[in-house]
Amino acid sequence: QEFDIVKFSEDLIEEMQMIAKQNQNIVYQHTGTASTVNLDPALLKNSVINLISNAIKYSGENTFIEFNTEVSESGLVITVKDNGIGIPEEEQKNLFEPFFRAHNTGNIPGTGLGLNIVKRYVGLMGGEVFCKSAQDHGTTVTLLFNKL
Ligand code: ATP
Ligand code: MG
Repeated sequence: QEFDIVKFSEDLIEEMQMIAKQNQNIVYQHTGTASTVNLDPALLKNSVINLISNAIKYSGENTFIEFNTEVSESGLVITVKDNGIGIPEEEQKNLFEPFFRAHNTGNIPGTGLGLNIVKRYVGLMGGEVFCKSAQDHGTTVTLLFNKL
């Protein structure tokens, strides 16, 4: 389905901002002249909600979360970046496996299923998911959808 990624993102951020921590702001920016994309909006929404929920959960008060969308000739790129606890380097390879939880999560609750679902949903939409993270510094998750 064709829809506007900017409208989609603004609506979603409005919802997610309500469950964010004290003074934890989600900052949105779109790049590109066009903003129409052709993806399953329900699968994309579920995926992005998972990523922003993680960013909220694994970062503290008084931080900001950057949410970016970019539409270009080559397709759509979505990134969610936080300045939170990060993921230990040696555990990053397991990130998308079901029930995986890193050892630095302490008493932060979770089942370890969110990212596995994201990977499967993004795969169904023909896209890819990447993660770049540094422990104690933060995490950036990128969703890539190449134009066919
Ligand atoms: P849930 O099923 O509720 O999403 P979860 O958040 O533990 O539980 P995932 O979203 O799959 O599960 O994430 C798996 C693990 O990856 C987390 O437990 C955490 O260790 C790590 N992780 C994921 N996102 C982040 C992030 N933004 N910052 C730090 N660690 C993260
Ligand atoms: Mg999660």
